[in-house]
Amino acid sequence: MTDATIALITGANKGIGRAVAEQLAAHHLTVLVGSRDPRRGEEAAAAIRAGGGDAHPITLDVTDAATIQAAAKHIDDRFGRLDVLVNNAGISYRRGPSLADLDQVRAVFETNVFGVIAVTNAMLPLLRRSPAGRIVNMSSHTGSLALMTDPGHYFSGLPASAAYPESKSALNALTVQYAKDLRDSGILVNAAAPGACATDFLKGLGRDVSRTAAQGAAIAVHLATLGPDGPTGGFFDDAGAVPW
Ligand code: NAP
Repeated sequence: MTDATIALITGANKGIGRAVAEQLAAHHLTVLVGSRDPRRGEEAAAAIRAGGGDAHPITLDVTDAATIQAAAKHIDDRFGRLDVLVNNAGISYRRGPSLADLDQVRAVFETNVFGVIAVTNAMLPLLRRSPAGRIVNMSSHTGSLALMTDPGHYFSGLPASAAYPESKSALNALTVQYAKDLRDSGILVNAAAPGACATDFLKGLGRDVSRTAAQGAAIAVHLATLGPDGPTGGFFDDAGAVPW
């Protein structure tokens, strides 16, 4: 079994997930670059290796049980354990609830919520072998019911949305329950709010921001590298705890 710290990041071929992989590699972790497209996973891993990091692509679609099981087996065979899991893969859907296509709502929950349970549970036997397991769920400020219902917050001016904020509220709830479940295991489980970052995700929603994916990744990297006295069951951004 290797002495390196092994991190798996889902949806790491681009955007914030890729930035998390780059930064964890810069912290000398061995990073497994999860990607549903093997070619784009290898491209991202090769770029990290070219920068001096230890990165390996791993094919993983969080909605596909076969790829999840194959990824867990591959990590077991090659590394024997997993130290860090960053559940980053996520998708959105624009419409408000009253006009929503339920299949699209289901698709968002499949990726952003059920995919997290599927990947986490497949990786838990490997995480339990780590001396310091860490799980980071990539959430969003939009998952905060406190911010969403604050009339002074800019969210009050955003159009209603049927699936994405709801999926991130559910992910936050899941974070609390996993932390409770794993409290005696030493595995710390937290949710990260990266802030609005300039990635394909926001471009798809027609929004233009200056915050970079690297800036958004920093809070996830912090939570992935917490010391033994770090928090569990929390929701954090760069400034500290985010209200639920
Ligand atoms: P992005 O650039 O669109 O990247 C999303 C990543 O998730 C891609 O690698 C994508 O793979 C992957 N993905 C989607 N569905 C997947 C599936 N079923 N299985 C495996 N991978 C899948 O988005 P991003 O901005 O980096 O977002 C990353 C995370 O941050 C998401 O959870 C998002 O909700 C969250 N977030 C983003 C922002 C923001 O402003 N950008 C703000 C708050 C939270 P493909 O390349 O194959 O599509």
